[in-house]
Amino acid sequence: MKVKASVKKRCPHCYIVVRRKKATRKGSKKTYYKKVVYVYCKANPRHKQKQG
Ligand SMILES: [Zn+2]
Repeated sequence: MKVKASVKKRCPHCYIVVRRKKATRKGSKKTYYKKVVYVYCKANPRHKQKQG
């Protein structure tokens, strides 16, 4: 799966999934949620991408 700065649908079969990932900042114990955007594709698995 490719990690990109921005993700895009590449065919009509692609769909976007947004998930929140728990993360911590350096030097801080506070946790926050990082938004991670995935693109999945059932027709062409090569279209799979990840942002963040
Ligand atoms: Zn696709």
